[in-house]
Parts: sequence; structure tokens; C-alpha cells
Amino acid sequence: MAPLRELYQQVILDHNRSPRNFREMEDATRSVEAYNPLCGDHYTVYVKMDGGKIAAMSFKGAGCAISKASASVMTSVVRGKSRDEVLEMFEDFRRLVTGEMEGEAQLETHGKLAAFGGVKEFPARVKCAILPWHALRSALTSEDPAVSTE
Ligand code: ZN
Repeated sequence: MAPLRELYQQVILDHNRSPRNFREMEDATRSVEAYNPLCGDHYTVYVKMDGGKIAAMSFKGAGCAISKASASVMTSVVRGKSRDEVLEMFEDFRRLVTGEMEGEAQLETHGKLAAFGGVKEFPARVKCAILPWHALRSALTSEDPAVSTE
């Protein structure tokens, strides 16, 4: 398992160092502010919908390595997905980082999200990893302009 773990850590380090889709989006359909007061993570996520699918996504803000990498990976994997597909991914991701999901097999379909499987060993980091996903879910399901982990 060691090489796999290392690979996962590489994914997180890489996305923290060079976050993907790290910019404001002027023509976003929705933007939601996300705040995790326990850690200080603070982001705005931008979503552009087209025909019921996510055409583009980006984020801006600052926070710890886990939250930033999670937001970066999320913006990479949700492109082209429908609202229902994203809500399913949210639930899989939540189960993964809270330790409700065991093994690697369940995550094969979601690729890089598996990198966050190690987060369950660090309970204080779970909210950091989920924060961007809460913001995206809110963008797709509610009118709330902001979400907080508290
Ligand atoms: Zn954090």
C-alpha cells in the first residue's frame, strides 16, 4: 500500500502547489462563499451551468493544503457532470473522508478523489476536505450565498 499512499500524497501536494481553475469567473451562473472557522479556510467557488451540466468551475481564496487541493481536484473532476452526478460524488467523497467507505474499489470511477482517502485518519482535516464540496452542493441546490462548516 505504501506506493499508493505516496501517490495520493503527491496528488494533494501537487494540487496545493499548483491549484487548477484558481481564478474568479465573471460569467458564473452561481458563486458561493465557503468558510471553515476551525481552520480559517475561506474560498469562493464559481459554477457555470449549461444545459443542466457543469460547463466550467473555478475557485478563489486561501486555506490549508487539504482544502485547497480538495477544491482544485473538485473543479477538475466535476466538469461535464450533471447536478445529480455531482450530488452523488459529494456523497461518495463525504463517506470517503469520514471513513464510512473502505477500500479503494468504490472510488475507481472518481479517480483523483481517492487521494483524499487518508484524510479520515485526521479528523480535524475532514471539514477542510469537504468544505469546497459543501459550497458546490449549495451552489447546485440552494440560493444561499455562503456556507460554513459550523
Ligand atoms: Zn483547513
